[in-house]
Amino acid sequence: MSTVCAVCTPLAQGGLAVIRISGEGAVDAASRVFSPFLSFPKVAEMKGYTCAYGKVIDPENGEAIDDAVLTVFSAPHSFTGEDTAELSCHGGVYIAKRVLRACLAVGCEQADRGEFTKRAFLNGKLSLTQAEGIMDMISARGEDSLRAARLTKEGRLFAEADDIKRQLVTALGELAAWVDYPEEDLPAVERSALSGTISSARGRLKKLIDSYDTGMLLRRGIDTVIAGKPNVGKSTLMNTLLGYERSIVTDLAGTTRDVIEEGVQLGGFELRLSDTAGIRTTDDRVESMGVSIARKRLSDCALIIAVFDTSEAADAEDRELIDYIAELGAKVIVVLNKNDLGDRFDRSLLGGLGCRVIELSARQGEGREELGAAVRELFAGTGIDEDGTIFANERQKDCIVKAEGRLAAAAAALEAGETLDAVTVMLDYALEELMELTGEKVGEAVVSEVFSKFCVGK
Ligand code: GDP
Repeated sequence: MSTVCAVCTPLAQGGLAVIRISGEGAVDAASRVFSPFLSFPKVAEMKGYTCAYGKVIDPENGEAIDDAVLTVFSAPHSFTGEDTAELSCHGGVYIAKRVLRACLAVGCEQADRGEFTKRAFLNGKLSLTQAEGIMDMISARGEDSLRAARLTKEGRLFAEADDIKRQLVTALGELAAWVDYPEEDLPAVERSALSGTISSARGRLKKLIDSYDTGMLLRRGIDTVIAGKPNVGKSTLMNTLLGYERSIVTDLAGTTRDVIEEGVQLGGFELRLSDTAGIRTTDDRVESMGVSIARKRLSDCALIIAVFDTSEAADAEDRELIDYIAELGAKVIVVLNKNDLGDRFDRSLLGGLGCRVIELSARQGEGREELGAAVRELFAGTGIDEDGTIFANERQKDCIVKAEGRLAAAAAALEAGETLDAVTVMLDYALEELMELTGEKVGEAVVSEVFSKFCVGK
C-alpha cells in the first residue's frame, strides 16, 4: 500500500496541528521533512513509541517551517497497523498546510476520507463495527452516546455478533455432517435442539434491533418541545437551559412565533429543544400558522416540557394544552414557572398527565438540575445497561435485521417439516449477514461507503 499523509486535526487555529504519515515509507518520508535537534536520535534510528523534538524542513528549499515533535510508531504497533509518523506542530492553518505540502513533496500521497481507519480495518486491527464505533465516538455529543460508541469501538457489538455466529456455525457443523454423510452412524440432528439454537440466536438479534432506537435517541438527541400559552416563560426557560439569550423574550403575548431548535445537555442526554408558539386559538394569521406547527410538533416529539404560569390561576388555554397533551400520551414534564410571583395554579388539573411537576423561576435561572433529573428518570430505562450493546448505525441495523429475517425463515422451514437442506441454506445466509456486519465478509463497495463518511485525517 502507498504511503499516505493528512492533517488529522481540524484545519483551524489551535494549540497544535498533527500531520500523520502512514505506510511503508512513513519513517523515510519523516526523515526527509524533519530534522531532530542534536540531543535526539536520527529519525531512521527512532524506535516505535518514541518522540523527537526538532524542525520541520521544507524539502524544496531547506527552509525551516516550524518546530515540531515527531512521534514514530512501528508496524504493526500503530493505529493503522503500518509504520506511522506523526508531526505535532503549532496549530496554524498555514503551518499545517505547509507541513502537509512538505510530506507530499517527498512522495507521500494525500489520504482519502477515513483512510487511516480503513487501513486499520484492512490490516486486521479493527472490525468494521469497531471502525464505525470510532466515527460514532467522534460525533458523540453526550455522556451516554459517548459510552455507547466507546463500547462499540471496544468491540462489544463485534463480540455479540461473533458469539451468535459461533452458535450458528456449531448448528451448521452438525447439519453439514448429517446432510453430507447420511450413511455414517452420526446421531440424527435433533430438530427441537436446532429450533432452540435458532430461537436463542433470534432473541439476541432482536435485542440488538431494539437497542437501535435507544442508540438513535442517544446519538440524535431527544426531540423535545417546550409548550405553553404565550407569556408563561417558555423562551426564558429555554434561554436558561441554553445558558444564553437565544429566542426573543418580551412582555407581549404571542411573540415567540417561530420554531427555534437548539441542542442542550440535560441529565446525560442531548435534548433537541424547540420553543414554540402557544396553542391558543387566534385570529392572527401568522400566529395561527405557528399554532398549527406547535400542535404538529407536540404530536411528533419524544418529550414535552409543558410550562404554566403558577402565579396565576389556570385558564381555558392552559386547560386546552393539558387536555391536548394528555390525549397524546407523550412523555411530559410540567414546569410551574414564575414561582417567585406566587402560587395560584390548581395542581389537581395536572392529574391526567401523570407526570413529574417542577416548580421554578426561569427568570432567576433555576431548574436546570431538577429538569435534568426528571429527564434522566423518564429516559433512564433507555440508557445503556452494563452488559447491553447499543448501536445507532443504519448499515449495522440492516445486517442485523436481515440476519434475523433469515433465521425466522429457517425456523419456519423447520416448523413446516421441510428438509434440513432448506434450513441449512437459511442459516448460511444468516451467517453471511453477520459476517457482513463485522466486516469479515464484505464487498469493497460497502467498505468504501463506510469510510467515505469519515473525515479526512481519521
Ligand atoms: P413565552 O411567551 O412563554 O416564551 O414567555 P417569555 O419567556 O417571553 O416570558 C414572558 C415574560 O415573563 C417576560 O417578561 C419574562 O421576563 C417573564 N418571566 C419569565 N419567567 C419568569 C419567572 O420565572 N419569573 C418572573 N417574575 N417573570 C418571568
